[in-house]
Amino acid sequence: MPPFSFGHPNYLEPPVFRPPSEANSLILQATLGCSHNRCTFCGSYRTKQFKVKPFNQFREEVEQLARKYKLRPKRIFLADGDAFVLTSTQLLEILNLLTKEFSDVERISIYASGTNVQRKTDKELKEIREAGLELIYIGLESGDDEVLKQVNKGITNDEHITMSLRLKQAGFTLSPIIILGLGGKSKSEQHAINTAVTINAIDPPYLAALTLMLVPGTELHTQAQRGEFQPLDPVEILYELRLLLDRLTKLTNCVFRTNHASNYLPLRGILSKDRVQLLGTIDRVLDDPQIMSRLRPDYLRGL
Ligand code: SF4
Repeated sequence: MPPFSFGHPNYLEPPVFRPPSEANSLILQATLGCSHNRCTFCGSYRTKQFKVKPFNQFREEVEQLARKYKLRPKRIFLADGDAFVLTSTQLLEILNLLTKEFSDVERISIYASGTNVQRKTDKELKEIREAGLELIYIGLESGDDEVLKQVNKGITNDEHITMSLRLKQAGFTLSPIIILGLGGKSKSEQHAINTAVTINAIDPPYLAALTLMLVPGTELHTQAQRGEFQPLDPVEILYELRLLLDRLTKLTNCVFRTNHASNYLPLRGILSKDRVQLLGTIDRVLDDPQIMSRLRPDYLRGL
């Protein structure tokens, strides 16, 4: 966690999660936990009750980091799980504080869920964007309604597309996150195909794929233990990834990454020009047992 390396007090309340591309960002917790906290696969905030950090406390932390510890971050990531749940008034207050105290900041980003966006008007979204929030990581997970329902995401695919297009319209940079293997064996194909349809419709500039990990204590883990959910093995994950990439044909300039620690095979490319090459990489891995054996082993996968 980058903030611990600056030599200032540990003000973060664990556990803290951030996307891989925020590794060098200053992480600030505007909220704690996740306001939804009911996705069957997610154990991230099971031990943490959701709450909004009081603004006075947030301001004190920011002022201390900026004035006493002289931090000059270029990038800031607002945690925890869905800090975009804050009202537009709360977010504007936070963004105004950050741009005032950290004058060198070039990018402020956040995790959001679809329902966080649904509760804001187009005017509010524009105001939040203009106040300095730029990049939004959206936990889309799947473009398939049956999978979304099965994992209790609390939103439909159409709603995901609508809110993503509204965010784009307001000027945000979108980075949807999808989860390979989330449909299990029985819904792998529909998960890949319908997720590709959704991503093609949104046409985001970034797309990240994680690979499902069954976390003890989660509902999905229990379902798997009871035999009600059959997880994919690494080869099936690669076939699912291949099917997804094969269908992502309508993206104008999308950087695709599987660099999260949960993935078996790290890939990166711009889909409009590298898609065929990425498919070739997957095919070479699938065709060669020796390369297959060098995929990231399960004990090294993580969230
Ligand atoms: S996946 Fe996201 S929205 Fe769902 S419980 Fe976890 S943090 Fe909350």
